[in-house]
Amino acid sequence: MLEKYIEKKLVQAVKNMGGMAAKFVSPGLDGVPDRIVLLPNGKMAFVELKAKGKKLRPLQRRRIKQLRNLGFPCYVVDDTEQIGGVIDEILSS
Ligand SMILES: [Mg+2]
Repeated sequence: MLEKYIEKKLVQAVKNMGGMAAKFVSPGLDGVPDRIVLLPNGKMAFVELKAKGKKLRPLQRRRIKQLRNLGFPCYVVDDTEQIGGVIDEILSS
C-alpha cells in the first residue's frame, strides 16, 4: 500500500467529515508530519503517512516527540484501515 494512496484516502475522509487535511511543509524544519488534520469544533492533529510497514525516520520520530511534548496529538498512519479510527479519536479528543 503506497503512502500517496493512503494520504489521498485520509484527505478524502477528513473532507467527508467537514474538515481539511492540509499538507504541512515547514521550510528549514525537516521531518515534520505530512498533514495537519483540522476537524470541526477546533479539533486538530498532525498525521505522518507511511507506506504499509515502513518505519519512521529518526528525524520524523524526533519531530513527533517534540510536537507531543508541546501537547499536540500526532498519529502515524500506514494503512487505510486506520483512518476511520484516527478521525474518531481526533473528533473525541
Ligand atoms: Mg510520510
